[in-house]
Amino acid sequence: MSVITPPSYVRQVLTTLQARGHSAYLVGGCVRDMLLGVHPQDWDVCTGALPEEVLALFPGSRPTGLKHGTVTVVLGKKQVEVTTFRREGRYADHRHPDEVSFVGDLTTDLSRRDFTINAIALPPDGLIVDPFGGVRDLRDRLIRCVGVPAERFEEDALRMFRALRFSARLGFSIEEETMAAIVGKAPLAASLAPERIRDEVEKLLLTRRPEKMAVLIDAGLLDAFLKHRRLDEFRLLRLNGLPRKPLYRWAALCVLLEEAGCIDSTESFLLALRLDGRTLRCCCDCAALLRTAPPTRSADWKRLLRAYGVDSADCAARVHDALLGGGCRRALREVLKSGECFSLKHLAVSGDDLLALGLRGKALGDMLDFLLDYVIEFPENNRRELLLSLAGNTEET
Ligand code: ATP
Ligand code: MG
Repeated sequence: MSVITPPSYVRQVLTTLQARGHSAYLVGGCVRDMLLGVHPQDWDVCTGALPEEVLALFPGSRPTGLKHGTVTVVLGKKQVEVTTFRREGRYADHRHPDEVSFVGDLTTDLSRRDFTINAIALPPDGLIVDPFGGVRDLRDRLIRCVGVPAERFEEDALRMFRALRFSARLGFSIEEETMAAIVGKAPLAASLAPERIRDEVEKLLLTRRPEKMAVLIDAGLLDAFLKHRRLDEFRLLRLNGLPRKPLYRWAALCVLLEEAGCIDSTESFLLALRLDGRTLRCCCDCAALLRTAPPTRSADWKRLLRAYGVDSADCAARVHDALLGGGCRRALREVLKSGECFSLKHLAVSGDDLLALGLRGKALGDMLDFLLDYVIEFPENNRRELLLSLAGNTEET
């Protein structure tokens, strides 16, 4: 395994703490990623120094989670999360410890972490600290709980989702006892906030192995949101044909869940998972659009754009091509590139023009619709004089 070295601002944090007599280690995801030869997304430090000591040592640092011992050290534009060694108390709600207490030793801190591969510490100069066999599991490509899996999932049910997410992201297997505990403790997922589940599902969907959603569903982790668990892993593989953007991946997942009869509707599923308004709208539009065959004529693409808007049409075209194959996206791009009118905004006459012609209320709205539909069919006729005369003549008859 190749070792990536931490950047100088991270080393500065470690050495500053050490110079004051505090122990300090890199820990968690950054150590795991370094050992895998992947550049870490963020750098976490754990230390024997108390939060107030960390705050005093680094001017400009912020007490981000003092209760949990976390201080964000800001160095120029860079940030490092520094957390005091801690132990966690009981977990009454299967998510948050009732209390945390600061402890003096690293091993206790490592023992509260979720998986062996996330419980490795690295001092600035010295040997790796790995009391739970994380390095071996990295080599064997295994996700394994620190401690007794069923107990760890009892404490915090989100860890079950994290296990599947890391498995999908890293391409690791889940160790047998850990996987059995996920299946056994899956009902605890119902006690989690839907927003947390949404975030974990989204992160999994955005990995290179979105098909692992099938394992998550099969384990029963989404039972609170689904009618049954039968979703074909093979169909999910098609999500790899989509860019790694949340909207496309959610939309494709919803199409597959609807198709397999796992959900009543995309809308109810996404509402329950608290997806934002735009994602919800585009995914619902996409699900509706994919229930019928895609347009074959340019005018029909424009009618679709008029009815659903560019975002939904683009999403549906991409999802269609990924799941079913075909050239929808190319066809849509051609239509958009043509610059031809498909919305009132680009119609050569406006509501004011029709007011001036004496049209009012519903008659005016109907006329705008009529003219837009006419222009969609005959794009070369999107000309003001022509449309005004058409409106005048049609109105008289
Ligand atoms: P990522 O690259 O996705 O950020 P990460 O391992 O850094 O992965 P974080 O959520 O940033 O994940 O958490 C940092 C570290 O904190 C983890 O590596 C793990 O040691 C510990 N941790 C995070 N969440 C939990 C949890 N729910 N239970 C136990 N330990 C956790
Ligand atoms: Mg992290």
